Amino acid sequence: MTATLIDGKAIAQEIESSVRERIEQLRTEGRRAPSLAVIRIGDHAPSGIYVENKRKACQRVGIDATIHALPEDTTDVALTSLIRDLNQDNGVDGILLQLPLPASLQETAFIETINPSKDVDGSHPMNLGRLAARTPGLRPCTSRGIIHLLKWIGETFYGRHAVVVGASNLVGRPMSLELLLAGATVTICHRFTHDLESHVRRADILVVAVGRPRLIPGDWIRPGATVIDVGINREKDHLVGDVDFERARERAQFITPVPGGVGPMTVAMLLDNTLEAALARSGRVSAY
Ligand code: NAD
Repeated sequence: MTATLIDGKAIAQEIESSVRERIEQLRTEGRRAPSLAVIRIGDHAPSGIYVENKRKACQRVGIDATIHALPEDTTDVALTSLIRDLNQDNGVDGILLQLPLPASLQETAFIETINPSKDVDGSHPMNLGRLAARTPGLRPCTSRGIIHLLKWIGETFYGRHAVVVGASNLVGRPMSLELLLAGATVTICHRFTHDLESHVRRADILVVAVGRPRLIPGDWIRPGATVIDVGINREKDHLVGDVDFERARERAQFITPVPGGVGPMTVAMLLDNTLEAALARSGRVSAY
């Protein structure tokens, strides 16, 4: 078997088009464009690229993005004060704090300072808690994007065993909650899991978010499984995922490439979350 590639780039473009059309509609009704404030601190190079990608994506769909670039030595007080100002600002619909922060700043404290109704990254404990309680509000972008990909290929979730490798607050944990909410039976693996292979071999749906190149050998993939590779690892001049793509492709039914699989969906979902936050603030509901 050779797996069908899940073209995240093309599916993300569909979402972008839908977001753009809905924003155009708002504008024709005389309303202002949704607006996103992105906070970036320090010189972490990959963050600079991610922020620029998000800014360009906002521009493509008509979201007003403002980048707040703060120096590496930004204090607790300065960052808290900026977030509070953005919380209060009625012209701001979404606030995104680009991680990682410099080691001197406690990430969780600042995430908790963001108004949950503007938390377009879905990282605030209120939004994670709502996902856990089956009343989702704003949802973390990567896992929401993956659910969208899975639905797009016709995944029905019921009676299916989903295995998530990686349990971070950013990806693995919300992914597990999303899969549970969708009706799958979920196993979560992490750095302390014994015999990872035996878990991976039982996965109908495998999602890997660890950040280690080719951690999952292709031979572990259950024949006919769906493989979602979230990992982004730089090797010389190219990117590789956490799964041994070439061999896994021979066993899976569906697989995401790296790059061009999950990554574009994360950005598309940020756009949709921003529109959703803007609509919710004005008492309207989004399409997704
Ligand atoms: P993280 O470092 O916060 O978490 C990694 C997780 O992997 C932890 O839960 C850890 O317990 C687990 N882990 C580590 N070694 C393991 C092992 N040997 N076996 C099983 N589990 C192990 O990372 P993260 O922020 O969740 O990101 C993971 C990867 O996903 C990174 O490569 C990151 O760049 C990528 N990522 C991609 C996107 C995207 O849009 N494509 C978005 C976010 C993160």
